[in-house]
Amino acid sequence: MFSSIRTVLIQTSHPGNIGSAARAMKTMGLSELYLVTPLQYPHVKADEMASGALDVLGNAKVVANLDEAIGDCGLVVGTSARSRKIPWPMLSPREFAVKAMTESAQHNVAILFGREQSGLTNEELHRCHFHIHIPSNPEYSSLNLAAAVQVIAYELRVASEEDSLKESWDYQFANTKEMESFYAHLETVLIELDFLKPHVPRQLMTRLRRLFNRARLDEMEMNILRGVLGAVEKKIKSSE
Ligand code: SAH
Repeated sequence: MFSSIRTVLIQTSHPGNIGSAARAMKTMGLSELYLVTPLQYPHVKADEMASGALDVLGNAKVVANLDEAIGDCGLVVGTSARSRKIPWPMLSPREFAVKAMTESAQHNVAILFGREQSGLTNEELHRCHFHIHIPSNPEYSSLNLAAAVQVIAYELRVASEEDSLKESWDYQFANTKEMESFYAHLETVLIELDFLKPHVPRQLMTRLRRLFNRARLDEMEMNILRGVLGAVEKKIKSSE
């Protein structure tokens, strides 16, 4: 369901790239565009490059931070031209497209695209269930932003034309907003337990995020874990 799949461009510098991304999306049938703090927007160059996709551009939602763009999403993926320090679950553009077409019937899906100069930050990448790398020349792996949008949008188009994509699960997956409040609760409890030392956090929360993002918690599992955290807190308080 293309209406539940959104393209999120983060802090794009060149307005022309925003227009080209809108065009890339429309040619493949996508329409949901989110712009997180674009440097120059609206801009005549964006309109010029959008060409016949001015409607997609005109409906783009400009938001002040990433949470506003992905809070209501159940699957979030980040595109990246290079690999990072802590390895993260990866999907090929094709695998992602199949997953997105299957899951978009149940919840919103977001694809994050980074800045022209520096891509996505580690913090942004840690918000993702999966990372996607578009196979490319290892010596020059960084595609133009709108070209990257085109590749992903094309794979979504191809996958949408396969009609055998059906998968069912008994509960909805937790969305980003629920996951964030779970991580905040988990962090608090780990600090209360003296397991997480705020002055030497190491990579603990990043590794736990990776673990739970890999597991893809559904609403029932999330409620169980929140209940466990609550019980731990109660026990700590009663023993104080
Ligand atoms: N210099 C940046 C590259 C930015 S390119 C870096 O090293 O990260 C701008 C954006 O286009 C990236 O953030 C990513 O969203 C997308 N992109 C470019 N090449 C890509 C590739 N090979 N695979 C996946 N995404 C890519």
